[in-house]
Amino acid sequence: MPAEVRQFSCLSDNFGVLIHDPDSGTTIAIDVPDAKPYLEVLQETGWQLSHILITHHHWDHVQGLDELKAKTGAHVVGPELSRGKVAGFDETVADGDTITVGPYSVEAIGTPGHTLDQISWFFPELKIAHTGDTLFSLGCGRIFEGDAEMMWASLSTLKRKLPADTTIYCGHEYTQSNARFSLTIEPDNAALKARAAEVDTLRAAGKPTLPTTMAQELATNPFLRANEPSVKAALGMTAASDADVFAEIRTRKDKA
Ligand code: ZN
Ligand code: FE
Repeated sequence: MPAEVRQFSCLSDNFGVLIHDPDSGTTIAIDVPDAKPYLEVLQETGWQLSHILITHHHWDHVQGLDELKAKTGAHVVGPELSRGKVAGFDETVADGDTITVGPYSVEAIGTPGHTLDQISWFFPELKIAHTGDTLFSLGCGRIFEGDAEMMWASLSTLKRKLPADTTIYCGHEYTQSNARFSLTIEPDNAALKARAAEVDTLRAAGKPTLPTTMAQELATNPFLRANEPSVKAALGMTAASDADVFAEIRTRKDKA
């Protein structure tokens, strides 16, 4: 049977995500902004949580970890670089590690920039990735611990490693404000205009704008498109490096 995925909101604008394999019973949580909504979905579905994967050390991604682990006994895997910042890891990973989670192999892709420890989790058999606070729909995470060059390298890694048909989950519902900003960078991008309209419709109906796909983000997300000649031209930066164009877009977003 195919995997089942539940995405639900936590705190004000975080997402909770559960992936369940009906055959083995494996159930995986990615990040725990708050234990309560996780426990409610587990109760409702009857799924037994077996694993928790953590993307990075920020409180809004690990706040519910202790409680969820205590109540489910799940095996917790997090970034090696979060050690000392987050308690409760049973196993840690570094960039390039592949772990076995029930029937799935899961690749830990190091994507530093927002934080240095940030891991994006890729499930190749499911064609699903969770990009934490690195890649958002139409956006990317604020750069707190790394620099723009590091974040651009991380986004470039995701572009290289995640096939276009990968379904993308991430840490936050920020898409509507990201869309408004993205249109200031590429006002004539038809795919972006269509996505922005779709996002407005979804939000007006109280629905999430995630998951997205890599193909959609490649066509619309200005933070992934800093290498595109059309984006460079729109910014008057035709001769600039990709990383410098990315840095300019990130700076404009920070000021927006
Ligand atoms: Zn964060
Ligand atoms: Fe966050």
